[in-house]
Amino acid sequence: MKELINISSIDDIFPQYRNTPIGLLLEYHNLNRPMDSYDNAQLLIGMCMDNRKHLHIPDNFAYIIRSGGANLRYSEFKVSYAIAAGAVEHIALIGHNNCGMVNLAARKDIVINGLVERAGWEQSKAEEHFMQFAPLFEIGNEVDFVLSESQRLRLRYPKITIAPMLYKVEDNRLYLIRED
Ligand SMILES: [Zn+2]
Repeated sequence: MKELINISSIDDIFPQYRNTPIGLLLEYHNLNRPMDSYDNAQLLIGMCMDNRKHLHIPDNFAYIIRSGGANLRYSEFKVSYAIAAGAVEHIALIGHNNCGMVNLAARKDIVINGLVERAGWEQSKAEEHFMQFAPLFEIGNEVDFVLSESQRLRLRYPKITIAPMLYKVEDNRLYLIRED
């Protein structure tokens, strides 16, 4: 298990993120920094679609892309747009514990039966859909995924600062992940 750093003071923020939009995100959300006012987005946040998460940040502060598991592989043009047209230079990639995109195979019957019963799909179509998409959205492990996805984005957008984080649903706080 990679080390999660509980951000409970400004000193806990890694030096490379202090005085950047990444550090500000941690200050607003974890440290109750008073809300500043913004005319333009300062960063892009990638986070899971999960309903248990809510960020405490000022209006206009961030672009947010929500996608299962904080997986941005299929949202790349939106990332490019936020950087190119929105002029953001920082990305916070926020995974969370108890994510539904971990071990999707174990939820196969729930998903297939749910599509049949709630959405009115035929069983065979629902099975095909699950088999096609579950491997694309499976993330394996929340922390490892957010680290590997950060590495992928760093290679793709080499001038952009990308910070992997974890949101714990039990305390609603953000944790930085210590990278090797
Ligand atoms: Zn999730």
